Amino acid sequence: MTRIDGHTILIGLMAYPIRHSMSPTMHNTAFEALNLNYAYLAFDIDGDQLADGVKAIRTLDMRGSNVSMPNKQAIIPHLDKLDISAKMTGAVNTVVNDDGILTGYTTDGVGFVNDLKKKGHDVAGKKMLVVGAGGAGIPIAAQSAIEGASEIRIANRQDGHFENAETIAKSINENSKASASTLSLEDEQAFKEALAWADIYVDATGVGMKPLEGMSLVNDPSWLKKDLVIYDTVYAPRTTKLMEVAKEAGVESVYNGLGMMIEQGAAAFKLWTGQDMPIDLVEQAMA
Ligand code: NAD
Repeated sequence: MTRIDGHTILIGLMAYPIRHSMSPTMHNTAFEALNLNYAYLAFDIDGDQLADGVKAIRTLDMRGSNVSMPNKQAIIPHLDKLDISAKMTGAVNTVVNDDGILTGYTTDGVGFVNDLKKKGHDVAGKKMLVVGAGGAGIPIAAQSAIEGASEIRIANRQDGHFENAETIAKSINENSKASASTLSLEDEQAFKEALAWADIYVDATGVGMKPLEGMSLVNDPSWLKKDLVIYDTVYAPRTTKLMEVAKEAGVESVYNGLGMMIEQGAAAFKLWTGQDMPIDLVEQAMA
């Protein structure tokens, strides 16, 4: 890459395992297109290495870093400040270095809201059912509340994540105007009623991707009303079983998570560079 010289500014991605990530392609394509003198590199970092990784952001005067599993919560004590998105979710996926002051953000939720907006649906004033209270579902619920969703029901099965659903519901009720509650996925009747009640249904469980490819939490098309907006956070495969069931039900607004993935990157890109990511070019590079 001839554009790299003595002035190039480094941005990292710290996670493990991470070599499969599409983020380096996304950001470096955008830097090149806009002639910005940055380079984005992935680093296998977890556990005890994280403190040194964060120290490197300051020492190498990096502009910042993305962070993914298993570092999203663990990085918080190493940072100087947290944005509201990181405070509400208790997780960070983007770090910005302003002259040695490191601020943590979570851009996954912004990615979801912005992608949905581009597709013609605003979360403001909407009733939402979010299934899955993990790394994707929590920021989606939090950002939807920040952006004015009226009511959010967060569903989870009774595994270790149910507690996360209760924690984020409490945080939404305390920090936003939205009203949030939880429901247990084991209660099939309550799940069906929530699907009938919701304007927007988000599946953030990963059911539908490997190793659960070909599976869906909704298998009966009659559970889905035609005007429901359905968003599956999975992007590999591009068409999930839930999306197939939704099409069979005649639902028109059915989306996978690729746009959210690109938009969360675009939000981080804007925080680092102040510029809008050239989304069309990035989409082509990642097709
Ligand atoms: P996670 O492990 O943190 O959370 C998964 C959640 O789903 C948990 O609440 C868990 O209880 C629930 N769950 C798991 N298996 C289930 C099952 N069989 N039935 C019912 N509930 C189940 O995972 P995550 O990081 O939140 O990722 C979830 C999905 O979102 C994955 O498919 C991931 O690829 C996708 N994702 C997409 C984006 C994007 O930008 N599009 C970003 C992050 C994650």
